[in-house]
Amino acid sequence: KSMSLIIMKFGGTSVANINKINNVAKIVASESSNNKLIVVLSAMAGVTNQMQNYINEIESEEIIENDLLLTSGENVTIAILSAILKKKKIKSIPLLGWQVPIITDNSHQKAKILNIDESRIMKFFEKNDVIVLAGFQGITNDGHITSLGRGGSDTTAVAIASAVSADRCDIYTDVEGVYSADPNIVPKARKISKLAFEEMLEMSSTGAKVLHTRSVELAMKNNLILQVLSSLIKKPGTLILDEKKLIEKEIVSGVSYSKNESKITISGIPDKPGISAKIFGLLASKNINVDMIVQNISQDGISANITFTVPNSEISYAKKILQNNLNLIGYHSIKTDEKVSKISVIGMGMMSQSGVAQKMFKTLADNSINILAISTSEIKISVLIDEKFTNIAVQSLHNAYNLEYKDE
Ligand code: ASP
Ligand code: MG
Repeated sequence: KSMSLIIMKFGGTSVANINKINNVAKIVASESSNNKLIVVLSAMAGVTNQMQNYINEIESEEIIENDLLLTSGENVTIAILSAILKKKKIKSIPLLGWQVPIITDNSHQKAKILNIDESRIMKFFEKNDVIVLAGFQGITNDGHITSLGRGGSDTTAVAIASAVSADRCDIYTDVEGVYSADPNIVPKARKISKLAFEEMLEMSSTGAKVLHTRSVELAMKNNLILQVLSSLIKKPGTLILDEKKLIEKEIVSGVSYSKNESKITISGIPDKPGISAKIFGLLASKNINVDMIVQNISQDGISANITFTVPNSEISYAKKILQNNLNLIGYHSIKTDEKVSKISVIGMGMMSQSGVAQKMFKTLADNSINILAISTSEIKISVLIDEKFTNIAVQSLHNAYNLEYKDE
């Protein structure tokens, strides 16, 4: 029987302590008897946060040192797992990102993978059956260690899987798969068995935290099927694959939310061509990520107001840029609000179905929830609301689209 090459990625909660890593070693051992394996690990849960706290505490702006700190947690977990595997007589080798090497650009803390040399990886299999690879890490062409952005070990797994044309890429986590909504908010949320890449991409980028958004982009580009599954219970998880492989396209597959949004309203801007281009051009030139946008004419009929959202982490910077350019834009005032939340409903079937948005707006209205902004794509509708209504919005939408788990 021919051997398969399988990528197995374990997240921080699956390697949070020695007990958990022993459990990972068991799963790896059970797969290793007839497969070649590349096991990609995160740091122990909380460790990368701890490193970020150190960086904050010393107010370090040294991008090279910061990445060295941020990526250090993965060094620990791969060494421990590989040592445990060797005790089980499994031929294992631990590898850091630079040893592969995983070459990235030099945008520290959000580095993009440029190249992985397949033949160099395959060489490690001449003497080993399992490669235990540190996720989240890379190296620039100048030899500096980089990190791929928080949650980036998913991206390591997908990039490696693509580079070696793996037969499978399994992402192990502490939940059984991707759910129709956060089970902490909606206890009756359903585990989704199959999801299109596009849907997963929208879910990740609208707040569902199961997968790093870039890893989904990369899987989609390379048409690599992903499976998200539990490291605690042996059960099929969620398959993420090409839309064409979905027999039935759900109108709505899931409801996601993100509290990581802030709203900026600029009042009293001249209502004439070119103003939006100026405002958003300024923000884009500083790499500020603008998401939802609403413009309306103010009461005097001459000036306009514009409202848009940016990630929480960018709000003060965005405000500063706008204030510094008061004369260039010409406006009356700026107001910001961080206590907002974005709620999204996502589904491939939406493309060919009308009334999905109407149902969303009606459901929110029935719950007296005011909509502050709206944005849509072919397969997603997002609304911005007051953050304190997050749970009730997610619960009532999940209910309205009939997404709850049902015993057959
Ligand atoms: N340890 C890194 C983080 O917490 C990478 C990852 O877990 O995916 O962001
Ligand atoms: Mg993660």
